[in-house]
Amino acid sequence: MAWYCSGSTNSELIENLSKTGLIKNERVKKAMLGVDRAHYAPSRAYSDSPQPIGHGATISAPHMHGHACEYLIDFLQPSSRVLDIGSGSGYLTHVLANLVSSPTTTQTGCQVIGIDHIPDLVELAHNNMRKSEQGREYLASGRVKFITADGRLGWNEGAPYDAIHVGAAAEQLHPILIDQLRAPGRMFIPVNAEGNQTAAGRGGGQYIWVVDKKEDGSVHKKKVFQVSYVPLTDYPRKQ
Ligand code: SAH
Repeated sequence: MAWYCSGSTNSELIENLSKTGLIKNERVKKAMLGVDRAHYAPSRAYSDSPQPIGHGATISAPHMHGHACEYLIDFLQPSSRVLDIGSGSGYLTHVLANLVSSPTTTQTGCQVIGIDHIPDLVELAHNNMRKSEQGREYLASGRVKFITADGRLGWNEGAPYDAIHVGAAAEQLHPILIDQLRAPGRMFIPVNAEGNQTAAGRGGGQYIWVVDKKEDGSVHKKKVFQVSYVPLTDYPRKQ
């Protein structure tokens, strides 16, 4: 059970996620150990639960960040380009940057772009990332870039992306996002189940979909597990 993974330090939390099998891949574990969640979560940073970050947004639970990285891992290589939609606190954007960074090779082209439509949250993500030397380097080098925009449209200027992560529940598998995937490429996206009329899209009716664009351009969609995310909305947010 995910909540039992909470720790009193960052490393204890990540070790617990690893011990329970919620994180399986060593690269994911290392990338998460490399980012102190206390720089991104304003309270209960090492609890395995979502925490409010203002504007109706939450930093997702650590096990959800772990799942997202596990599903995307094959598409997170040195030189990969990644789009993190609904970047919120910026935590996952930082972890994703760790995953496309290699200490041994000089990289060209790798970049993680975080998008959020709330300017205050984009500023928050910047400020959070500036709390570590590595984060400051990522911002200065342009390896990480935060943009204020409607994430439902993706970010065409940076496309194609090897991996797209969506951190808020979408109404549909936006075809424009699939267009911006590289072939091969993968998207991890929570989507409201058809007919889910619960308040603002919250509640039991959302599922993670993994969308693969194969080398030949064919698109394969798989519904993998049920989740509860804040919704991907118009700006200003409908509460
Ligand atoms: N991965 C983030 C999740 C933040 S919650 C984290 O763990 O910190 C979801 C985020 O999606 C919120 O920050 C919200 O502002 C953002 N969001 C909602 N609708 C959006 C839209 N249409 N475009 C871009 N971002 C959006």
